[in-house]
Amino acid sequence: MEKEVLRKELKVSAIENGTVIDHIPSSTVFQVISILGLSSIDNQVLFGTNLESRKMGTKGIIKVKNMFFAASEINKIALVAPTATLIVIKNFAVVEKKPVFVPDTVEKIVKCFNPNCITNHEAIPTQFQVIDKKELKLRCHYCEKITAKDNMTFIS
Ligand SMILES: [Zn+2]
Repeated sequence: MEKEVLRKELKVSAIENGTVIDHIPSSTVFQVISILGLSSIDNQVLFGTNLESRKMGTKGIIKVKNMFFAASEINKIALVAPTATLIVIKNFAVVEKKPVFVPDTVEKIVKCFNPNCITNHEAIPTQFQVIDKKELKLRCHYCEKITAKDNMTFIS
């Protein structure tokens, strides 16, 4: 019994310090890696796709050693992986575990879909109101056009 619990703990705490992004939809693991720029950092990054999940059927997971994400990065994760859970590990122990939330407003991290939008022509940071958190629809503060999940481009 105790061994079983320990093994489960080890699965999650396999890194000494860092962040585990759990419950990522398998199809968006590589997108999360890309928007967080994890392919070009020196930290150790471990990831898996199509892992068994009782909750989701299959899921993806990313573990980043010695990295703790800022609010703006967590917002990016929420936009592509709204089901994700963030687990903060310190000294092999889980110190924080929280779901990500799609924010009410999105600033700077997404490009406006409208080619004529002022944000695509001048050095003005983008700003959106999230009008549909489930389908992920963002209304531009400047041109009021809707940027949706399918035509969303991230500014890295
Ligand atoms: Zn716009």
